This record gives sequence, structure tokens and C-alpha cells, in this order.
Amino acid sequence: MIPYENLERVNAAYRVDFENRFQSFLDKGWYILGEGVKQFETAFGQHQGEGQRAIGVANGLDALVLCLKALDLPPHSDVLVPSNTYIASILAIVQAGHRPVLVEPDIHTYNLDPHLLAAALTPQTKAILVVHLYGQCCDMDPILAFAAAHHLKVVEDCAQSHDATYKGKKAGNFGHCNAFSFYPTKNLGALGDAGAVVCSDPILAEQIAALRNYGSHKKYYNEYLGYNSRLDELQALFLLVKLARLAELTQHKQRLAQRYREGLKSDFILPKVLPQNEHVYHIFNVRHPRRDALKAHLAAAGIGTEIHYPLAPHQQKALQPLLAGQSYPISEEIHATTLSLPCSFAHSLAEIDQVIEAMNRF
Ligand SMILES: *Cc1c(COP(=O)(O)O)cnc(C)c1O
Repeated sequence: MIPYENLERVNAAYRVDFENRFQSFLDKGWYILGEGVKQFETAFGQHQGEGQRAIGVANGLDALVLCLKALDLPPHSDVLVPSNTYIASILAIVQAGHRPVLVEPDIHTYNLDPHLLAAALTPQTKAILVVHLYGQCCDMDPILAFAAAHHLKVVEDCAQSHDATYKGKKAGNFGHCNAFSFYPTKNLGALGDAGAVVCSDPILAEQIAALRNYGSHKKYYNEYLGYNSRLDELQALFLLVKLARLAELTQHKQRLAQRYREGLKSDFILPKVLPQNEHVYHIFNVRHPRRDALKAHLAAAGIGTEIHYPLAPHQQKALQPLLAGQSYPISEEIHATTLSLPCSFAHSLAEIDQVIEAMNRF
């Protein structure tokens, strides 16, 4: 059996450090916004790059909502977002009081196609929510040029792209404020829900830090209509342990992905990596016209796979009131043909070779 993911095995590598952090947490008795959150925010800000500040929040969805709220766009603004993203990106726009306007991805990279932005622009368009899907950055130069030309704010959804780079710069360094998720399966994954906002504007950073804590800078004095979306102290301590070893995890996933690229026969459509990008393979997917049969074939060989995602956002029941009748053929093609293969810190090269062997028999 080769499961798609095995978090128990992933996190076993950090167990002693987790236990030590938990011990000191118990000894201290400070549970909310303590030293652990402060230390993680400092470490993650430095990790992201020069002049970046990180604000710990409860999860990735909240990180996106807080980014959009802090930007203070006019109510009911149009926000451009890729049509094949995980639904959280779209829900964040709705929860922030805006209207999602879907833009098709490039069929080779699965990321927002910059050429299609102009056709989606309306007088109400105020922002672009870019999503670096599967672990590869979007083609940021043309997107940023378009945003500048039309006075649009840019928010990056980096939930799948910790340490992915574009022209040597990490995801999270391009937008006005940017969202990370540390959901347990993400490349930097906590042992529960967690997230962060990263931005280089100190005023925006202060505002987001207040917004996640009841809109308050000073206890019992509230400046904004805020939220309770604090990063949990214990998760911050666990994340400090995993951040220090993130490069090792990323390199492992990159090695596995490289093995797939070398070993898989040409029937499978592999993700195209832009030459200016470093892909971190949060997800390693292939596409095949007979995806469901391929998934069943692998299951019969004891190999677990996932589909990211089976149903496009505009086809989700929850979004019908907003998106009914719209059609996104490129996104639909991706959703109908994509299959995510095992590519975890928990997998060995020998296991990947078994997957390749089973794939090539299909
Ligand atoms: C996981 C994910 C999110 C949401 O993160 P949570 O921590 O689960 O709220 C947002 N966007 C994308 C692209 C994701 O993959």
C-alpha cells in the first residue's frame, strides 16, 4: 500500500522537538498570542524576505479574508481570481463583501493566464487574487504590470506555494498583502489549523494584526470591526520546528517530482514549469483523458491518489447564486483530467518507482 499522504509519518520526523516545545508551553501557561506566536511571526517574516512582516492567523481562509478587508476596497468590488482555484480563494472574496470574477488558467501551468485579464476587467474591478496553484508561482511580471496599469491591488494566495520562487523571489513577495495556510497537508503544515498574512507595508501589517484580534491594538480598545482569528500558540510552536526544516521537505518533494518526470511514459501530461520558476510540488499532478480509469487502476495496485479538484468552483452548488450559467472550458478540462500522485515527505524514491511502474502499465 502506498497512501497518497501519511501525515503521521511526515510528522514523526519532528516528534522530539514537538514534545520539547509542548513541555515548555505547559510550563509557561500562556495560551493566546504568547512568545510562540511572536517568535513564529518574526521567523516567518525573516524567512519570507527582506522587510517582510508576518501576522499569524487562525487559517488560510481567514488570512485571505483579512487581506481583502485590510485593503479597504469599495464594497461589492470585482476581484479577479482563477477559475480553477480551491474554493477558499473564492469564498474569501465573497466573505469580504466583494464579487469574484473568474479568469481561466493556462492549460500547461494551471495558473492564471495573464493574457485573459484584460477581457475580465470591469469598471468595478479593484483587485486580483492570484493563486500559485500546486506549488508553482504565477507569471507575476505581466500580472503586476496589468495591476499597475489599472490601479488594482494584488493579493497572493500562497497556501500551496511555501518557498516557491519566481525570478528568485519567494511567493508572498509580490502582492500588497499575501495569505498563507498551514493546514496539516500543506508543505509547511501545522498539527491543526493555522495561517499567516505576509506583507511589507508596516501600516497594513499593523491593521491586519489588529483585525485578527477583535480590531484591537490595545486590550479593550477597539479601532476596527475585527475578528477573532488568532494563530494558536501551540500551533505557532509546532510551526517553528517545521519552518526550520522546510527546505529539507521541499527538496525531498522536488526529488520525487523529478523521478516522476524521468520515469513516466509520455502518455501522461506533466505540469509545465516556467523557466523563471522554482516549483515546490505541494501537489504533483498528471493529466490523462481517462483519469477515472487511471485512478481505479492505481487503486487496484494499492496506490492512493487524489483529485485536485473534482468539481470546478463555478459548478459548485454553493456558488450557483453567484456563478450559475457561467462556463470555463479550460478549467473544466483540468478538473476532468487531473490526477494527483503520491509526492510527500513520507514517500521514498523506491515508492515513487513503484507508482511509476504501475502508471506505465496503464
Ligand atoms: C488550503 C487552501 C486554502 C485555505 O486554507 P485553510 O487553512 O484550509 O483555510 C486557500 N487557498 C488554497 C489555494 C488552498 O489550497
